[in-house]
This record gives sequence, C-alpha cells and structure tokens, in this order.
Amino acid sequence: MKHVIVCGAGAAGLTAGIFAAESGAKVTLLERTDKAGKKILMSGGTRCNVLPVTMRQTDYFTESSKNRMKNIFKSWSLEACKDWFEKDLGLKLACEIESNKWFPASNSAKEVRDKLVQKAQWVGVAILYEKKITALRKDGLKWIVEVNKVDQFKSDSVIIATGGLSVPTTGTDGLGHKVIRKAGLQHTELYAALTPLTTKDEDLKQLAGVSLNVLMDVYVGGKKQVSASRSGFLFTHRGFSGPAVLDVSHHAVIELERGGQLPVYKVNWNGMSREEWETILKQEKGLVRNAITKHLPARLAQLLCRKANIEDDKAPELRKEKRKKLLEVLTEYQLPVDGHEGYRKAEVTGGGVPLEMINTATMEVEAQPGLFLCGEVLDVFGRIGGFNFYWAWVTGRLAGISSSKSS
Ligand SMILES: Cc1cc2nc3c(=O)[nH]c(=O)nc-3n(C[C@H](O)[C@H](O)[C@H](O)COP(=O)(O)OP(=O)(O)OC[C@H]3O[C@@H](n4cnc5c(N)ncnc54)[C@H](O)[C@@H]3O)c2cc1C
Repeated sequence: MKHVIVCGAGAAGLTAGIFAAESGAKVTLLERTDKAGKKILMSGGTRCNVLPVTMRQTDYFTESSKNRMKNIFKSWSLEACKDWFEKDLGLKLACEIESNKWFPASNSAKEVRDKLVQKAQWVGVAILYEKKITALRKDGLKWIVEVNKVDQFKSDSVIIATGGLSVPTTGTDGLGHKVIRKAGLQHTELYAALTPLTTKDEDLKQLAGVSLNVLMDVYVGGKKQVSASRSGFLFTHRGFSGPAVLDVSHHAVIELERGGQLPVYKVNWNGMSREEWETILKQEKGLVRNAITKHLPARLAQLLCRKANIEDDKAPELRKEKRKKLLEVLTEYQLPVDGHEGYRKAEVTGGGVPLEMINTATMEVEAQPGLFLCGEVLDVFGRIGGFNFYWAWVTGRLAGISSSKSS
C-alpha cells in the first residue's frame, strides 16, 4: 500500500486526501494550524460559494498555458464535482441563478468544511494538526517531509496543497512556496489578487457602504484589457471593493510590482449608455440632480453631480460643456486608484508554480516523480464566484487519485 503525505488541510488538501485514500493509499494529512479549512470557514461571507453554476476558461487568469489549464479542468466537470458534494459528501447545495453560484443550502461554510473533514476521516485519512512542513527532500525512492524543523515523515508520494499568501493569519504565509523552492522547484512571481483597491479621494471615501452594480473597463498601457460584465461595486473607507473591482484588481497589483503605470479603471455606474442618459435628461423638467438620483444611489448621484460642477442646474438649461462632463462621469468615470490592499485583504494569490512544470494528466511535477501539486500553489486563479474552490477541488482530486498510483 502506498503512503501519501498531503501537506496542508485546506480545500485542495482535504480533497486530495479523500481521493488518495479512496484510491487505496494510506494517507497522512499534515496541517500547520490547529484547524482544517480555515479559509473555507471564512469564504463567501461564511456562506462558502462552493462552485459556480457555469464556467468558461476566461473566468480564470494564468500566465501559464491556457491549454494545460483546460486539460486539468477536463478531468472533472462542474456537474460531476457538484454531484460529489451532494451524493458523496451529503452536502445539499442551493443555486443562486442571478449570481451564477452554488452555496450550501444551509448557507453554512462550516458545514462544507465539516463534511470534507468527516469524509476524510471516514475513508481513513489521518489528519495531524500543528505540523508545519519546513522542508522536503528525496531519499532514494522515498520522500522525507521535515516537520516543525525536527520531526520527519517518510512517504512514497507527497502532495503539496499549502495554498498561497492571502490572509496570512489562516496559515498561508508563503512557507509552502519556500519549501517548494528549497526542494528545487521554481515558481513565478507571486502577487495579491482579488484584493480591494485604494484611493486618496476623500469625497469617494465618504461614500463607504454604498453599493451598486456597475460596468467596468480596464486599460493597461492605454489598451483595453478587460470589459467586465455588470457586477457589484462597493465603496469602502479606503477605496473600492465588490466583485467588479476584485475581479480586475490584479492588473493594478501586477503593474505596480513590475514598475509599470497604474491601469485606468473606467466605471459606468449603472450600465446605461450616454444616449439613455441624454433621453432621461431631456425628459426631466426640474433639477439635473433629481434626474440622476432616480437612477443611482442618492449620495453617489450628488457626488457625481458635484464632480461635474452641477449644483442647482436645471435639466432643460444644462449647457453643452456641463452636459458632456456629466455624461462622462456617469458612463466613463475614471476611478482615482492609488494602490491596493495587498495580501491582507486578498482572496487569492496570483502566480505560482507554472503548469508547464506539471503533468496535467496527473498533477505530478514532471522533474520530481512522486511530488504532486494542487490548489492555489499553482499559477491559476479565478474571479469571484466559486471559481477558486472549483480549481482546488479539481486539482486536489486529480493529485489524490494519481499520487496513490504513481510508481
Ligand atoms: C475571505 C475569503 C473568502 C473566499 N471566498 C471564496 C468563495 O466563496 N468561493 C471560492 O471559490 N473561493 C473563495 N476564496 C478563495 C479560496 O478560499 C481559495 O482559493 C482556496 O481556499 C484555496 O485552496 P487551497 O487548498 O489551495 O489553499 P488553502 O485553503 O489556503 O489551504 C492551505 C492550507 O495549507 C496549510 N499550510 C500552509 N503552509 C503549510 C505548511 N508549511 N505546513 C503545513 N500546512 C501548511 C494552511 O494552514 C492551510 O490550511 C476565498 C478566500 C478568502 C480569503
């Protein structure tokens, strides 16, 4: 019987452990903290968005080969993964069609984590807590996993599922990547992704708490990079958040880290075109700001009018220059972004071990037989919407099954 050691009891590690044990291996799962799945517990506002309802390759970002990523996803369809949760783990899921998301019907992230841990224990995975992996090396055909700098565990295969660097207090502070590097593996530059953006604009910070659905265009080096579909935008005390912002914030992080210029973020506050606003203004007989307030949250409408120099202007008397400026702030408002909130608030880590180093049929490192990787440690992340957990479940399963078979 093969002995598989899984490093990290997060979403990917728990899944890997379950599938390795079900495929016949003796599995030891080593977790550095005193709990499994701390990120699962805090996910989706403690509701855990387990999966998306539908997915496309463009829901993911990687600087590795997209074909390799596609091959990995092919190993487990969304439907099959959802069935596993419902039938194998006994977790009832409920669909939020409007947001394209599956949540547990109980809305409890704890239930998701508990079901995974129970299943792992049921199939015989030994979960050991407060076991921090500090080094990894090969000794003949065996892998030696050094724990807490003193203990050693020996196994036939090792699965690294130590996650990224986001929210370091949950156990993910980059040590996993250090261990990988020491073991002779390279990874690409790491960066915070799905993190809020910041601003120095005190007027906008005053809108903290205001939320709405917007359209967002992102320009990097003058070239349109993304045109995001309509999604949630939230003003915060430090800047901007919500899926519309989080999904595209990595462009700012990457540019800043590579010494480039901040991208330009242009917001259309409610998806209406210039022409539609023109019609509304034509129909309004009173103040311009009244017309705008009917279609946007009042505090935002007032601020945008001020930014366009409109105070008590009446709609029928609005001058051409002011009208032009108003239409611009309503449909193409350039967000005054000055930075981002980094790993402290990031939901995931961008970059990681390139998929080129992995056999995509098994998740085994090509140059290191018996070493498997899964989850966020790899160079792939998805946008908000259950896409990141889907990546963790798919890669965890594949690594688990393959590790129990490798020679
Ligand atoms: C606030 C928040 C909300 C989120 N909500 C969602 C959501 O609703 N839907 C979604 O799809 N995604 C969500 N995500 C993203 C999702 O949580 C991650 O993509 C996912 O957890 C990655 O799984 P993983 O197993 O690769 O890493 P993790 O879940 O981070 O697990 C890594 C594990 O490895 C352990 N570890 C690290 N280093 C070592 C070491 N040296 N030795 C031993 N153990 C180690 C850690 O303690 C941790 O338990 C959210 C993230 C955050 C921060």
